[in-house]
Amino acid sequence: MTTLLERFLRYAKLDTQADETSSSSPSTEKQLVLSRMLADECGAMGLKDVSCDEFGNVMATIPATVAHEAPVIVWLAHVDTSPEFSSDGVRPIVHDNYAGGDIVLPGDPQQVIRVEENPALRELIGGTIVTTDGTTLLGADDKSGIAVIMTAAARLVADSSIQRGPVRICFTCDEEIGRGTENLDLEKLGGVCGYTLDGEGRGTIDNETFSADQAVVTVTGVNTHPSKGKGVMVNAIKILSRFIDALPQDRLSPETTDERDGFVHPYVFEGGVAEATARIILRDFDTPKLAEYSALLEEIAAPLRAAYPQARIEIAITEQYRNMGDGLETEPRAVAKAVEAMRAAGVEPQLSVIRGGTDGSLLTAAGLPTPNLSTGQHNPHSPREWTSVEEMETAVEMLIKLAEAWGTERVE
Ligand SMILES: [Zn+2]
Repeated sequence: MTTLLERFLRYAKLDTQADETSSSSPSTEKQLVLSRMLADECGAMGLKDVSCDEFGNVMATIPATVAHEAPVIVWLAHVDTSPEFSSDGVRPIVHDNYAGGDIVLPGDPQQVIRVEENPALRELIGGTIVTTDGTTLLGADDKSGIAVIMTAAARLVADSSIQRGPVRICFTCDEEIGRGTENLDLEKLGGVCGYTLDGEGRGTIDNETFSADQAVVTVTGVNTHPSKGKGVMVNAIKILSRFIDALPQDRLSPETTDERDGFVHPYVFEGGVAEATARIILRDFDTPKLAEYSALLEEIAAPLRAAYPQARIEIAITEQYRNMGDGLETEPRAVAKAVEAMRAAGVEPQLSVIRGGTDGSLLTAAGLPTPNLSTGQHNPHSPREWTSVEEMETAVEMLIKLAEAWGTERVE
């Protein structure tokens, strides 16, 4: 029987990095290699309705064993890895019987996984830790999630004595570049709720994300030759600089907030005398606050418009994603069953918020309420990425308990 660790290593060694500069879908051909491998493995283990589409979305069904009609749930993970660090030639190192202490990565001894920065390591002495050699990322984000789902599926189909409801499995591409759900057929997928297996550590249920809008501030000035600028030139760079300078300095920024506080964050500033543009992200857990942040930008623009009547200052707001918590209220069982399953797997769950978005926020907004669950991944997007076999094993147990917990429900 394939072990959880073997599965993880098999998936981690494949380079499946996404590419945000590519316009194809999936963004890189190499993601399809893993998608097809997973579809084949799903078929070989006896899952039903196995499919893999041209976009690399894999779907399959673990049939129910309960006699009544129970609701369908979905487990999701993503095959791609982050473009933020190399994933070319991943050489995973398995640290059996971890003795404690910092872990120096041999391929680049500058890279050290320090206990101080990774307190979870203290709980994992004697267990099996997997790291890279320090020259690539590991891709435990999200291959630990894939290995956990595949292992849970294999155990469920092999044991019909476990009383469970039906589970749909779904692997997607390009999550890391925000396009994970773009070509996903939710109708075909089905399900009353989903669970992304893409969370860090052990025992966490992410049930809230930011709500997010983007503001593009465009200042149109008047350019002339500098020698003939007097009374005519209107410099868009200077006006936009004053705009940015008027943003709150001691609050509402990533540098000054944490936990549940939101922010208004300029992250791109570009242009010239004739036109200058700033891209600003607006973030808060409390969705109506985003309208206040838009209003704040208009308040900043008003006196500048009065001071520079020859210039044009435009603010365009676009919606990006919404707090997953808003949509989870429509299916309260999604989080309740996850809590029940984690306790049944011997872990006291912690509800947690993500200061960002996930595929789960997009899926939730699209009508599939989808919280995010722990899979033992740590330090994502970094050469110091690592995972714990024991934490992954807990996630497998939890998924089996989750299928059982949903098996007690009935479709009304
Ligand atoms: Zn991920």
